[in-house]
Order: sequence, then structure tokens, then C-alpha cells
Amino acid sequence: MDRLRKIFTILMILTGITCEAAEMKKIILIVVDGMRPDGMISCGHPLIGQLKKHSFYTFRGRTVFPSVTLPCHLSLFHSVPPEIHGTIDNKFVLPPLPGAGEVMKKQGKEVMFFYNWAELRDLARPDSLKRSVLISSHDYGGKAAAQMITDEVIRVLKKEQPDFIFLHLDQPDGVGHEHYWMTEEYLQALRDCFDCIGRIIPVLPEDYLLVLLSDHGGHRGRHGTELPEDMTIPVFFYHSSLVSRELPGANIIDVMPTALVATGMEPDRAWQGKVLFQTINHKEKEK
Ligand SMILES: [Zn+2]
Repeated sequence: MDRLRKIFTILMILTGITCEAAEMKKIILIVVDGMRPDGMISCGHPLIGQLKKHSFYTFRGRTVFPSVTLPCHLSLFHSVPPEIHGTIDNKFVLPPLPGAGEVMKKQGKEVMFFYNWAELRDLARPDSLKRSVLISSHDYGGKAAAQMITDEVIRVLKKEQPDFIFLHLDQPDGVGHEHYWMTEEYLQALRDCFDCIGRIIPVLPEDYLLVLLSDHGGHRGRHGTELPEDMTIPVFFYHSSLVSRELPGANIIDVMPTALVATGMEPDRAWQGKVLFQTINHKEKEK
């Protein structure tokens, strides 16, 4: 048997299919609040180049209008624009369709949320989350809150490895409002967030697809308008087995259907976003 297995392994290596590459079955979704794509580039954090090398990505993704935190997150999780989910400012309105938390829970998945802004507790209905952790940036400060919530995620990745982790880092939005977008203070807040993400990647098990994006951008000290500075967002799908490719035409409502399909889960029928790519596991590696 051992000999047969060896021959089989050699054959697999020769044909370019490696057994070692774990299939992506789980998702960690990281939202860096208020991160502009040009800010991501200008902040110069070395992790961004590393992510780009192994991502399907765009720096020209689009969020929904109004480019405001809660409506944008509801569109991300429910894959519809605000006129359908009903939340048009930072006051929550119960959506008429299931969000990603409910959809994954129904498929027997374990879902956990870790966030810096209390309003995001409304992204999932009661009983769909196994764990929901708030460390408020208003109370601890953006930088400390981001580090503390990252510690929580690292702890859970080492012990429980749920099927879906949502990590929200609030710091750049707060700094953008206070010091304005694209200032040195704002770029430093982005670097701080990439320091946090850089602590997660080494402990991320191989079966996780990492999805990284922002909810909206910003200009001067605000956001919410239809200006490109507010509406343009980066969207990254990262896994060490992926070969860099730019994604055309990505919208925030496409992110969840794409992530679920890539990890073998089913999007909800009422969702309106499109799947940005189909198969990204072994087949991409063979090319
Ligand atoms: Zn804001």
C-alpha cells in the first residue's frame, strides 16, 4: 500500500496537482472600515504586496450608495443594495431577506463575529452566531480596539477554527473623520490595521479563504456621497495557492456570493450579487 501511495503521490506532483493544497472550506472576512484603495497603496505596508501576489483582487471595487457604514455592511452581508435591505443610514432596519450569518448557519456552519463598532451586531439575526465579540473603538480607542479584537480572532483560530469569521477593524474611519482621509495619520491607521492582519496570516489554517475589503472610502473628513473617493473600495480574495489576477467589475454585493461559492457553500436565492469567479482551488494551481 505504501508503495502504491508513493507512486500515486509522484504522479500527482508530475501532473501539477498537489495533495498538500488544502481545499478552501472556511472564510475569514476582514473589513477595514473606511479604507480607500489609494490609501491602501500609499500606506506602503509590506503585507499588501504579499497579499497581492496570491489574490484575486481589485483596487476599483464599488460600494453601494449611500456610502455609509451600516448600509454598506448590510449590503455586504445580504448581497442587495440599500433600497432592498431597507437600511439607508446608521439606523438598522430589519432586512426582508436572510444575511450570510443565517444562510451559513442553516447549512450547519459555525459563524463568529468580531467587531469594533456596536451597530454591527445587527448584521446577523439571533441564533445564527456561535460567538459575537464587540471591543468598542469608541471606548478603547481605534488602535487598541483593533489590536484587542485581533487577539480574540487569533485565539479562536488556534482553538476552534469556525467556518466563518468576520473581523471588523474600525480605526481608519475614526482617524479619517478626525484628521481627514489620506493624511499621514490616516495612512498610519491603515498600517496599524495591516500590522493586525499580518499577525493573523501566520496562524491562519490552510483551509481558510481570506477576504479583505472596505465598506466605503472617504474624502476630507467625511463619506456618504457618490464621489469616487467615497464609493471606490479594494476587494481581495487571498489564499496562498492563488496566482494574482485582477477582478473586473466587483461590487460589494458580489463579495458574499463569491466567497460562499469558492468555499463550497450555497448563496441565498434572494441575493442579487454575482459570483466573481467560479473555481479557485486545485484548477487554478494546475494552470
Ligand atoms: Zn465613518
